[in-house]
Amino acid sequence: MRELTYVARRTVEWREAPDPKLRSDGEAIVAPVAATPCDVDSAILAGRATRRKPQIGYSIEPPFALGHECVARVVDTGDAVTAVTPGDLVVVPWSINCGTCDRCRAGLTAHCSTVPHMAMYGAPIGGTWGGLFSDLVRVPYADAMLVPLPAGLDPVAMASASDNWSLARRLVAPHLQARPGARVLVVARGSIGLYACDIARALGASEVLYVDPEPEHRAIARRYGASTAESLDPLPQGFEIAVEATGRVDQLALTVKCLAPEGVCESAGNHFRPGELPLLDMYLTGVTLRIARDNVRAHIPDALQLAASGKVAPEKVVSHVLDWEALPTALPEKHLKPVFVRNEA
Ligand SMILES: [Zn+2]
Ligand SMILES: [Zn+2]
Repeated sequence: MRELTYVARRTVEWREAPDPKLRSDGEAIVAPVAATPCDVDSAILAGRATRRKPQIGYSIEPPFALGHECVARVVDTGDAVTAVTPGDLVVVPWSINCGTCDRCRAGLTAHCSTVPHMAMYGAPIGGTWGGLFSDLVRVPYADAMLVPLPAGLDPVAMASASDNWSLARRLVAPHLQARPGARVLVVARGSIGLYACDIARALGASEVLYVDPEPEHRAIARRYGASTAESLDPLPQGFEIAVEATGRVDQLALTVKCLAPEGVCESAGNHFRPGELPLLDMYLTGVTLRIARDNVRAHIPDALQLAASGKVAPEKVVSHVLDWEALPTALPEKHLKPVFVRNEA
Protein backbone atom coordinates (compact mmCIF):
# COMPACT_ATOMS: atom_id res chain seq x y z
CA MET A 1 0.00 0.00 0.00
CA ARG A 2 1.01 3.62 -0.35
CA GLU A 3 1.47 6.30 2.31
CA LEU A 4 1.49 9.95 1.34
CA THR A 5 4.81 10.97 2.84
CA TYR A 6 6.01 14.43 3.76
CA VAL A 7 9.60 14.55 2.51
CA ALA A 8 10.58 18.22 2.46
CA ARG A 9 9.12 21.70 2.59
CA ARG A 10 6.10 21.84 0.22
CA THR A 11 6.85 18.30 -1.02
CA VAL A 12 4.89 15.11 -0.46
CA GLU A 13 5.10 11.82 -2.37
CA TRP A 14 3.62 8.34 -2.33
CA ARG A 15 5.89 5.80 -0.66
CA GLU A 16 5.30 2.07 -0.55
CA ALA A 17 4.79 0.46 2.85
CA PRO A 18 3.72 -3.05 3.89
CA ASP A 19 -0.06 -3.49 4.17
CA PRO A 20 -0.94 -3.07 7.86
CA LYS A 21 -2.08 -6.25 9.62
CA LEU A 22 -4.19 -6.80 12.72
CA ARG A 23 -1.81 -7.26 15.63
CA SER A 24 -4.45 -8.09 18.24
CA ASP A 25 -8.13 -8.95 18.35
CA GLY A 26 -9.14 -5.42 19.37
CA GLU A 27 -7.80 -3.77 16.23
CA ALA A 28 -9.25 -2.73 12.90
CA ILE A 29 -7.88 -1.99 9.45
CA VAL A 30 -9.60 0.89 7.67
CA ALA A 31 -9.33 2.44 4.21
CA PRO A 32 -9.74 6.24 4.16
CA VAL A 33 -12.45 7.30 1.67
CA ALA A 34 -12.42 11.09 2.29
CA ALA A 35 -9.38 12.74 3.87
CA THR A 36 -8.46 16.37 4.35
CA PRO A 37 -5.59 18.39 5.81
CA CYS A 38 -5.84 19.71 9.36
CA ASP A 39 -5.01 23.41 9.64
CA VAL A 40 -1.70 22.41 11.26
CA ASP A 41 -0.75 20.43 8.16
CA SER A 42 -0.32 23.77 6.36
CA ALA A 43 2.32 24.68 8.94
CA ILE A 44 3.97 21.28 8.51
CA LEU A 45 3.94 21.60 4.69
CA ALA A 46 5.42 25.09 4.96
CA GLY A 47 8.24 23.67 7.09
CA ARG A 48 7.22 25.67 10.17
CA ALA A 49 6.70 22.68 12.47
CA THR A 50 10.10 21.05 12.02
CA ARG A 51 12.69 23.72 12.73
CA ARG A 52 12.12 24.62 16.36
CA LYS A 53 13.04 21.47 18.21
CA PRO A 54 14.47 23.12 21.33
CA GLN A 55 11.30 25.16 21.84
CA ILE A 56 8.64 22.59 21.06
CA GLY A 57 10.46 19.80 22.80
CA TYR A 58 10.01 17.18 20.12
CA SER A 59 11.17 16.60 16.60
CA ILE A 60 8.98 16.05 13.59
CA GLU A 61 11.64 15.67 10.95
CA PRO A 62 10.68 14.30 7.53
CA PRO A 63 10.10 11.81 6.07
CA PHE A 64 6.84 10.78 7.72
CA ALA A 65 3.33 9.76 6.69
CA LEU A 66 0.99 12.75 6.75
CA GLY A 67 -2.69 13.20 7.50
CA HIS A 68 -4.92 12.95 10.56
CA GLU A 69 -8.43 13.79 9.38
CA CYS A 70 -10.59 11.30 7.50
CA VAL A 71 -13.72 9.28 7.16
CA ALA A 72 -12.78 5.67 6.39
CA ARG A 73 -14.35 2.36 5.42
CA VAL A 74 -13.72 -0.50 7.85
CA VAL A 75 -11.91 -3.28 5.97
CA ASP A 76 -11.13 -5.83 8.69
CA THR A 77 -11.66 -6.20 12.43
CA GLY A 78 -10.27 -8.41 15.17
CA ASP A 79 -12.56 -10.92 16.88
CA ALA A 80 -13.02 -8.76 20.01
CA VAL A 81 -14.21 -5.66 18.13
CA THR A 82 -17.92 -5.01 18.67
CA ALA A 83 -18.49 -1.32 17.83
CA VAL A 84 -17.85 -1.53 14.09
CA THR A 85 -17.91 -4.16 11.37
CA PRO A 86 -16.32 -4.36 7.92
CA GLY A 87 -18.12 -2.09 5.50
CA ASP A 88 -18.99 0.58 8.10
CA LEU A 89 -18.08 4.22 7.45
CA VAL A 90 -16.27 5.63 10.48
CA VAL A 91 -14.60 8.79 11.72
CA VAL A 92 -10.98 8.10 12.71
CA PRO A 93 -9.82 10.41 15.54
CA TRP A 94 -6.46 12.11 15.13
CA SER A 95 -5.02 10.81 18.41
CA ILE A 96 -4.41 7.24 19.48
CA ASN A 97 -6.24 6.25 22.65
CA CYS A 98 -6.99 2.98 24.41
CA GLY A 99 -10.36 3.77 25.97
CA THR A 100 -9.68 1.89 29.19
CA CYS A 101 -6.95 3.72 31.14
CA ASP A 102 -7.92 6.22 33.85
CA ARG A 103 -7.33 9.20 31.58
CA CYS A 104 -9.34 7.80 28.69
CA ARG A 105 -12.20 6.98 31.04
CA ALA A 106 -12.05 10.59 32.29
CA GLY A 107 -12.38 11.82 28.70
CA LEU A 108 -8.73 12.89 28.41
CA THR A 109 -8.30 10.94 25.20
CA ALA A 110 -5.35 13.06 23.98
CA HIS A 111 -3.49 12.03 27.13
CA CYS A 112 -3.97 8.25 27.07
CA SER A 113 -1.46 6.67 29.44
CA THR A 114 -1.33 3.34 27.59
CA VAL A 115 0.38 4.80 24.52
CA PRO A 116 3.36 7.20 24.33
CA HIS A 117 2.73 10.90 24.99
CA MET A 118 1.45 12.62 21.80
CA ALA A 119 0.64 9.36 20.01
CA MET A 120 -1.18 10.43 16.85
CA TYR A 121 -1.64 9.85 13.16
CA GLY A 122 0.18 12.03 10.67
CA ALA A 123 3.26 13.03 12.70
CA PRO A 124 6.09 10.86 14.04
CA ILE A 125 5.67 11.82 17.68
CA GLY A 126 4.60 9.39 20.35
CA GLY A 127 5.50 6.46 18.12
CA THR A 128 4.81 5.73 14.47
CA TRP A 129 1.15 5.17 13.68
CA GLY A 130 1.12 6.13 9.99
CA GLY A 131 -0.95 8.86 8.42
CA LEU A 132 -4.54 9.07 7.21
CA PHE A 133 -3.52 10.00 3.65
CA SER A 134 -2.65 6.30 3.30
CA ASP A 135 -4.38 3.54 1.37
CA LEU A 136 -4.82 1.50 4.56
CA VAL A 137 -4.54 2.38 8.25
CA ARG A 138 -4.26 0.23 11.37
CA VAL A 139 -6.47 1.35 14.27
CA PRO A 140 -5.03 -0.17 17.45
CA TYR A 141 -8.08 0.26 19.71
CA ALA A 142 -11.00 0.02 17.33
CA ASP A 143 -13.87 0.07 19.85
CA ALA A 144 -12.39 3.01 21.76
CA MET A 145 -11.36 5.09 18.78
CA LEU A 146 -13.70 4.62 15.82
CA VAL A 147 -17.03 6.45 15.65
CA PRO A 148 -19.57 5.27 13.06
CA LEU A 149 -20.63 8.06 10.70
CA PRO A 150 -24.37 8.64 11.19
CA ALA A 151 -26.50 7.80 8.16
CA GLY A 152 -27.17 10.84 6.04
CA LEU A 153 -23.92 12.64 6.81
CA ASP A 154 -21.64 13.18 3.81
CA PRO A 155 -18.10 11.78 4.26
CA VAL A 156 -16.71 14.74 2.29
CA ALA A 157 -18.32 17.32 4.59
CA MET A 158 -17.38 15.32 7.70
CA ALA A 159 -13.79 14.36 6.81
CA SER A 160 -12.69 16.96 9.36
CA ALA A 161 -14.65 15.42 12.24
CA SER A 162 -11.40 13.66 13.16
CA ASP A 163 -10.05 16.95 14.42
CA ASN A 164 -10.86 20.50 13.22
CA TRP A 165 -14.67 20.25 12.99
CA SER A 166 -15.04 18.54 16.35
CA LEU A 167 -12.45 20.86 17.88
CA ALA A 168 -14.33 23.94 16.64
CA ARG A 169 -17.51 22.75 18.31
CA ARG A 170 -15.67 22.26 21.58
CA LEU A 171 -14.09 25.73 21.34
CA VAL A 172 -17.45 27.51 21.26
CA ALA A 173 -20.41 25.30 22.24
CA PRO A 174 -19.75 24.88 25.99
CA HIS A 175 -19.11 28.62 26.38
CA LEU A 176 -22.23 29.64 24.47
CA GLN A 177 -24.22 27.25 26.62
CA ALA A 178 -22.87 29.01 29.72
CA ARG A 179 -23.34 32.50 28.20
CA PRO A 180 -26.38 32.36 25.90
CA GLY A 181 -26.38 35.04 23.22
CA ALA A 182 -22.74 36.01 23.82
CA ARG A 183 -20.73 38.04 21.32
CA VAL A 184 -18.05 35.83 19.78
CA LEU A 185 -14.73 36.91 18.25
CA VAL A 186 -12.90 34.45 15.99
CA VAL A 187 -9.30 35.26 14.98
CA ALA A 188 -8.14 32.55 12.64
CA ARG A 189 -6.43 31.51 9.42
CA GLY A 190 -8.36 28.48 8.21
CA SER A 191 -11.00 25.85 8.70
CA ILE A 192 -11.13 25.82 12.51
CA GLY A 193 -12.16 29.47 12.67
CA LEU A 194 -14.72 29.13 9.88
CA TYR A 195 -16.31 26.11 11.51
CA ALA A 196 -16.37 28.10 14.76
CA CYS A 197 -18.29 30.91 13.02
CA ASP A 198 -20.87 28.45 11.70
CA ILE A 199 -21.30 26.76 15.08
CA ALA A 200 -21.41 30.02 17.05
CA ARG A 201 -24.21 31.40 14.85
CA ALA A 202 -26.10 28.11 14.95
CA LEU A 203 -25.91 28.01 18.75
CA GLY A 204 -27.24 31.52 19.27
CA ALA A 205 -24.32 33.95 19.40
CA SER A 206 -25.73 37.47 19.11
CA GLU A 207 -22.74 38.54 17.00
CA VAL A 208 -19.78 36.80 15.40
CA LEU A 209 -16.77 38.77 14.16
CA TYR A 210 -14.28 36.81 12.04
CA VAL A 211 -10.78 38.27 11.60
CA ASP A 212 -8.49 36.87 8.90
CA PRO A 213 -6.34 38.59 6.21
CA GLU A 214 -7.45 36.05 3.58
CA PRO A 215 -10.42 37.42 1.53
CA GLU A 216 -11.60 33.95 0.48
CA HIS A 217 -11.90 32.90 4.12
CA ARG A 218 -13.76 36.09 5.06
CA ALA A 219 -16.25 35.46 2.25
CA ILE A 220 -17.09 32.05 3.73
CA ALA A 221 -17.44 33.57 7.21
CA ARG A 222 -19.94 36.10 5.84
CA ARG A 223 -21.95 33.22 4.35
CA TYR A 224 -22.20 31.93 7.91
CA GLY A 225 -23.61 35.28 9.03
CA ALA A 226 -20.41 36.62 10.59
CA SER A 227 -19.13 40.13 10.12
CA THR A 228 -15.48 40.24 9.10
CA ALA A 229 -12.27 42.24 9.40
CA GLU A 230 -8.81 41.88 7.88
CA SER A 231 -6.99 42.51 11.12
CA LEU A 232 -7.35 43.41 14.79
CA ASP A 233 -6.46 47.03 14.04
CA PRO A 234 -8.38 48.80 15.48
CA LEU A 235 -9.01 46.40 18.34
CA PRO A 236 -12.66 45.46 18.62
CA GLN A 237 -13.96 45.36 22.17
CA GLY A 238 -16.39 43.66 24.48
CA PHE A 239 -16.47 40.00 23.41
CA GLU A 240 -17.53 37.46 26.02
CA ILE A 241 -16.02 34.59 24.01
CA ALA A 242 -12.96 34.60 21.74
CA VAL A 243 -11.38 31.85 19.65
CA GLU A 244 -7.81 32.20 18.43
CA ALA A 245 -6.59 29.76 15.77
CA THR A 246 -3.68 31.47 14.04
CA GLY A 247 -0.63 29.76 15.54
CA ARG A 248 0.75 33.25 16.20
CA VAL A 249 1.33 34.49 19.72
CA ASP A 250 1.06 38.14 18.67
CA GLN A 251 -2.47 37.42 17.45
CA LEU A 252 -3.34 35.62 20.67
CA ALA A 253 -2.02 38.60 22.64
CA LEU A 254 -4.30 40.95 20.69
CA THR A 255 -7.27 38.59 20.90
CA VAL A 256 -7.29 38.51 24.70
CA LYS A 257 -7.33 42.34 24.70
CA CYS A 258 -10.71 42.23 22.94
CA LEU A 259 -12.47 40.43 25.76
CA ALA A 260 -15.20 41.79 28.01
CA PRO A 261 -14.63 41.52 31.77
CA GLU A 262 -14.35 37.85 32.81
CA GLY A 263 -14.31 36.81 29.16
CA VAL A 264 -13.00 33.47 27.97
CA CYS A 265 -10.47 32.85 25.21
CA GLU A 266 -9.92 29.46 23.63
CA SER A 267 -6.67 29.05 21.72
CA ALA A 268 -6.40 26.19 19.24
CA GLY A 269 -2.68 26.26 19.94
CA ASN A 270 0.10 25.04 17.67
CA HIS A 271 2.18 28.05 18.64
CA PHE A 272 5.48 26.75 17.34
CA ARG A 273 7.21 30.01 18.25
CA PRO A 274 7.52 31.59 21.69
CA GLY A 275 6.04 34.97 22.53
CA GLU A 276 4.57 37.20 25.18
CA LEU A 277 1.05 37.62 26.47
CA PRO A 278 -0.26 40.84 28.13
CA LEU A 279 -0.62 39.22 31.53
CA LEU A 280 -1.35 42.41 33.47
CA ASP A 281 -4.13 43.36 31.03
CA MET A 282 -5.48 39.84 31.30
CA TYR A 283 -5.42 40.05 35.07
CA LEU A 284 -7.21 43.36 35.13
CA THR A 285 -9.87 42.15 32.68
CA GLY A 286 -10.22 38.76 34.33
CA VAL A 287 -9.43 36.51 31.39
CA THR A 288 -9.82 32.76 31.28
CA LEU A 289 -7.43 31.40 28.66
CA ARG A 290 -7.57 27.76 27.66
CA ILE A 291 -4.90 26.40 25.34
CA ALA A 292 -5.15 22.67 25.00
CA ARG A 293 -4.75 19.79 22.64
CA ASP A 294 -8.24 18.58 22.00
CA ASN A 295 -9.47 15.36 23.57
CA VAL A 296 -11.27 14.90 20.32
CA ARG A 297 -12.49 11.33 20.68
CA ALA A 298 -14.60 12.38 23.65
CA HIS A 299 -16.26 15.11 21.54
CA ILE A 300 -16.76 13.45 18.14
CA PRO A 301 -20.23 12.03 18.93
CA ASP A 302 -21.55 15.46 20.00
CA ALA A 303 -19.95 17.08 16.95
CA LEU A 304 -21.57 14.55 14.62
CA GLN A 305 -24.91 15.07 16.33
CA LEU A 306 -24.61 18.81 15.75
CA ALA A 307 -23.75 18.18 12.09
CA ALA A 308 -26.77 15.90 11.74
CA SER A 309 -29.07 18.53 13.29
CA GLY A 310 -29.08 20.49 10.04
CA LYS A 311 -28.34 23.76 11.89
CA VAL A 312 -24.80 23.91 10.50
CA ALA A 313 -23.18 23.62 7.09
CA PRO A 314 -19.59 22.34 7.36
CA GLU A 315 -19.59 21.56 3.63
CA LYS A 316 -19.26 25.31 2.91
CA VAL A 317 -15.66 25.18 4.17
CA VAL A 318 -14.69 22.42 1.70
CA SER A 319 -12.64 24.31 -0.88
CA HIS A 320 -11.95 21.53 -3.38
CA VAL A 321 -13.10 17.94 -3.87
CA LEU A 322 -10.25 16.06 -5.53
CA ASP A 323 -9.37 12.53 -6.48
CA TRP A 324 -7.20 10.50 -4.09
CA GLU A 325 -4.58 10.13 -6.81
CA ALA A 326 -4.14 13.91 -6.93
CA LEU A 327 -2.76 14.02 -3.36
CA PRO A 328 0.96 14.40 -4.12
CA THR A 329 0.49 17.27 -6.55
CA ALA A 330 -2.57 18.98 -5.10
CA LEU A 331 -1.99 18.83 -1.34
CA PRO A 332 0.86 21.38 -1.29
CA GLU A 333 -1.02 23.67 -3.69
CA LYS A 334 -4.64 23.64 -2.54
CA HIS A 335 -5.37 25.68 0.51
CA LEU A 336 -8.13 25.92 3.10
CA LYS A 337 -9.92 22.54 3.02
CA PRO A 338 -9.38 20.32 -0.02
CA VAL A 339 -10.97 16.90 0.49
CA PHE A 340 -9.40 13.94 -1.29
CA VAL A 341 -11.88 11.24 -2.17
CA ARG A 342 -11.13 7.64 -2.99
CA ASN A 343 -13.10 5.89 -5.72
CA GLU A 344 -14.19 2.67 -3.97
CA ALA A 345 -15.48 0.95 -7.13
ZN1 LIG B 1 -4.86 18.52 13.63
ZN1 LIG C 1 -6.04 5.29 27.43
